[in-house]
Amino acid sequence: MKLVIFDIDGTLTESNDLDDEAFIKALDDVFGFKAVSNDWESYTHVTNSCVLEEVYQLRQGHRPSSKEVNYFRNRFLELISEVASAHGGVQPIRGASSVLTRLLTSPDYAVAYAGGDWRDSALFKLRAAGLPTENIPHAFSDDDRSREGICKLALVRAEAHYRYPFREIFYIGDGVWDIRCAQRLGYPFIGIGQGEGARKLIAEGARHVLPDYQDVDGFLSLLELRELT
Ligand SMILES: [Mg+2]
Repeated sequence: MKLVIFDIDGTLTESNDLDDEAFIKALDDVFGFKAVSNDWESYTHVTNSCVLEEVYQLRQGHRPSSKEVNYFRNRFLELISEVASAHGGVQPIRGASSVLTRLLTSPDYAVAYAGGDWRDSALFKLRAAGLPTENIPHAFSDDDRSREGICKLALVRAEAHYRYPFREIFYIGDGVWDIRCAQRLGYPFIGIGQGEGARKLIAEGARHVLPDYQDVDGFLSLLELRELT
């Protein structure tokens, strides 16, 4: 059995812009931080917990308290919901539901989620986009500030959940931080993206980048390849 680990934003849900808008607004609402850089690659790890910590440290000279982090997370979740409603909801990446259904009903595959978002907002976006969340092991920014740590924990949880020692693990993502994480962990990578996003993944060494999952069989055939990155 092969484990397929999916990032969330931009990989399963059309939510990168939504996330950026809510995150920047929450920083202003909660802490009064304005003109925060949304050049996510400039942060040590592109995870909500790491970006919040680094922005806060830069402005205040010390790390946020756990109370402040919790307050921020709650406001961020409220804003995600508000911004999503204003934009007509959260859309899945085309074909994501079909591909997840195929994987979840196949004896050959198992699915896990690993994203840089916090758990509550990640699950909110998946549900809002009509994608499954029940009985799918996951790890998010609550668990670790690095994407590698998040992916490793998703694997540990998947092995416990499926009671299977996975040897073949794929990571599916849309960001350059996703392919870098896959390369560091030695996981074959499949990119999801178009235009500039796809070009950046290819420049990082991605051999296979798909615009979406509309070609379900095409996506599944990539999981049979040995050399993906
Ligand atoms: Mg992403």
